[in-house]
Amino acid sequence: MEQEHKGMDQAKSLWLANNKKYSFPSVSEDLTADVIIVGGGITGIATAFDMTERGFEVILIDADQVLQGTTGHTTAKVTSQHDVYYHELIQQIGMSKARLYVEANEKAKELIQARVKEHQIDCQLEIRDAYLYTKEDSGVNKLKKELDAYKQLGIDREWKTELPFDRDIKAALVMTQQAQFHPLHYLDALIELLIERGVRIYEQTTAVDVKEGNRPAVITKSGHHLTGRYIISCSHFPFYDGKGLYFTRIHPEQSYVVAVKTKQPLPDGMYLGIDQPAHSLRTAEINGEEVVLIGGEGHKTGQGGNEAAHYEALEKFGQDTLGIQEILYRWSTHDMVTMDQIPYIGHLTKNNPNIFVATGFRKWGMTTSHVAATLIGDLIERKSNPYESIYTPSRLISDSFVKDFIKENTNVAAKLISGKLDRPDQSIDDLKPGEGGIVSYDHKKCGAFKSEDGSLFLVDTTCTHLGCEVAWNNSDRTWDCPCHGSRFSITGEVVEGPAKKPLKRSYKEQ
Ligand SMILES: Cc1cc2nc3c(=O)[nH]c(=O)nc-3n(C[C@H](O)[C@H](O)[C@H](O)COP(=O)(O)OP(=O)(O)OC[C@H]3O[C@@H](n4cnc5c(N)ncnc54)[C@H](O)[C@@H]3O)c2cc1C
Repeated sequence: MEQEHKGMDQAKSLWLANNKKYSFPSVSEDLTADVIIVGGGITGIATAFDMTERGFEVILIDADQVLQGTTGHTTAKVTSQHDVYYHELIQQIGMSKARLYVEANEKAKELIQARVKEHQIDCQLEIRDAYLYTKEDSGVNKLKKELDAYKQLGIDREWKTELPFDRDIKAALVMTQQAQFHPLHYLDALIELLIERGVRIYEQTTAVDVKEGNRPAVITKSGHHLTGRYIISCSHFPFYDGKGLYFTRIHPEQSYVVAVKTKQPLPDGMYLGIDQPAHSLRTAEINGEEVVLIGGEGHKTGQGGNEAAHYEALEKFGQDTLGIQEILYRWSTHDMVTMDQIPYIGHLTKNNPNIFVATGFRKWGMTTSHVAATLIGDLIERKSNPYESIYTPSRLISDSFVKDFIKENTNVAAKLISGKLDRPDQSIDDLKPGEGGIVSYDHKKCGAFKSEDGSLFLVDTTCTHLGCEVAWNNSDRTWDCPCHGSRFSITGEVVEGPAKKPLKRSYKEQ
């Protein structure tokens, strides 16, 4: 394609590229508070906010800088339309619980709207209808089942056979009165309010363990103890397992986004094409100009082959659909998916009355993070919450999901050992400037990146989380673990957990 990639900031989202930078201190002494929250993404911040509304004293830590994780790379549709989901959810958990799931997410959406209004937050919050659409007969059948589910669940809806920008579709199912926003502008405002309320926020502070007990403590990499009455893990992949076996119960799914200026505008609405590969569309405003976010091309992290091809496929879709004038940003990130596709929110395990977790949002974390904040707050205050049994991480999971889970884990196990014995057939000399890959070096296998000026960066490709082999991601210039989603920089530093330690760099670089 001929489009310009003017000013494109590789691997930075348009939200992060245009947002203020924070610089909170790191923890340098033992500290205490009522609640210790680990993770400064939307989940940690929404939960901290909820805790302060309930009068708790809060410490929030982040291993990196706040908002730089998945939240900084989202597409930020604020909706209960979680893909084609509800007809299966009804079969899975029954009608009354499925109704509660919708209600939980609608309330979360309304909570965000009410908060924006109350605190006059300037975050481009706009009411938009959410569309699922298809161009295939099989897709129409799926959408008809989903329509039926919407009717039974009482979801406000419309059925369409045309889209304003595409007359060739076969059907679209619309969930009306949903929303989109600028996630970081919303969260910036919450952070300001948290600071005003006395919340202590620390960055570059990695939680590595927990000391369980009546007064549990988060132990940081620097050896400091953050002691509280309650600990809440909002670290995306849980930073502490506590015998919950989370590493066998969730897997990461990667997706790609491009932000483009288009030739034709995208008419009001947020769209998700359900035919494979699925495509998501929404508008956003940046420096007074409208851009379109095109997302999709999802796959398991580290297992998607050539990363650049995914961006190109999104750009081709954008070109065919709206026409592209300019490509501004490209980025990718991953979200966690649970065994039964329902998030894990609640007590870390049945034996942990004062340690909580929120994870597995399946790329629908804008509302789910707020469901989590309220639910965990109610659990802490021992108030009954109608959504507890739906989300509890200790729920029983049906056999069919367990079978899928075994398949999933076979795949993860395969990734754990695959490549360990292979001898790479390329050497450092085969890498072009700006390229990375697994190479033979000094009779050993290692991960190498050759920068544009010819400098070499070599890492041990064994993930420091559970020992899987990391794969090179040439678009984002990271080493990605296919098992649980850890990502490392060219120098081996952790970009994203669950790994807490950098990749080894035991090789002598040239
Ligand atoms: C491409 C893509 C598009 C998406 N689009 C949408 C959408 O349109 N609508 C929607 O609802 N959802 C969407 N999602 C999902 C949503 O973005 C996520 O569910 C949500 O951002 C997760 O937020 P989080 O706070 O749980 O995690 P994160 O934002 O990743 O935050 C976790 C934080 O924890 C920190 N951390 C990790 N380990 C430690 C540790 N050991 N110690 C201290 N800190 C630690 C990290 O540094 C990070 O800052 C999308 C996801 C993807 C991948």
